Amino acid sequence: MIGEKIRRWTRTYAAEHGWILNPDSRALDIVIRGLTRNCKKFGHPYCPCRLRSGDPEKDRDIVCPCIFHEDEVRDEGNCHCRLFFRPDKDE
Ligand code: SF4
Repeated sequence: MIGEKIRRWTRTYAAEHGWILNPDSRALDIVIRGLTRNCKKFGHPYCPCRLRSGDPEKDRDIVCPCIFHEDEVRDEGNCHCRLFFRPDKDE
């Protein structure tokens, strides 16, 4: 199932970067559901928190993990969708 595959990938990817997933499991589920929905509908796990332009070339930037997430996690403590978190972020 795509949703489970995405969930597993998020765990592995976060661990590889020394991050954690959103500790709020309800919020986490919403993002994972959004990624899954986009994957089924558009063939790629587009960011559920950003607008697609409809141009696949431009929208490549917002396929999860988007081009912004590393800077966001470093500077703000989490990515825009609040999927990936720096473990030391104060909530
Ligand atoms: S903001 Fe987070 S969830 Fe959205 S595409 Fe970027 S890394 Fe993925």
